[in-house]
Amino acid sequence: MITKRIILTFPENIVTKPITYRLVKDFDLQFNILRAEITKDIEGKILLEIKGPKENVEAGIRYLQNEGITIQDASKDIILDKDRCIDCGMCQSVCITQALFLDKLTHSLVFDKNKCILCGFCDNCCPVDAIKLKI
Ligand code: SF4
Ligand code: SF4
Repeated sequence: MITKRIILTFPENIVTKPITYRLVKDFDLQFNILRAEITKDIEGKILLEIKGPKENVEAGIRYLQNEGITIQDASKDIILDKDRCIDCGMCQSVCITQALFLDKLTHSLVFDKNKCILCGFCDNCCPVDAIKLKI
């Protein structure tokens, strides 16, 4: 039995397909939707934790890919060191869900953990190494 965290990216035309239902019914997997977002370019993103026998997890992921869904491994957590941060805003420009943004009044960086889907795009973008992803 393994547990895997993945990020699903899917276009609007398959948002209504019962993909998670198929994961349970056809592949006998347990799943937990940790976060879901619709991004500005109308792509859906879901952070999903799936659990089951290794071969079923792999078969379930292949099924998702065959349905046109892009799969990415998710990090475990993101750690922001506010003492190091110089509020330059570079991470804001790569954050697709706007979990990282500069406050309009204070011009300091805010991290909204509830919006973060752990995609990892902000990893390595910080000039002072204030963001770290735990894999
Ligand atoms: S991992 Fe970074 S870039 Fe991705 S959603 Fe979270 S804060 Fe934004
Ligand atoms: S890139 Fe680094 S220094 Fe710049 S705002 Fe983001 S965390 Fe702060």
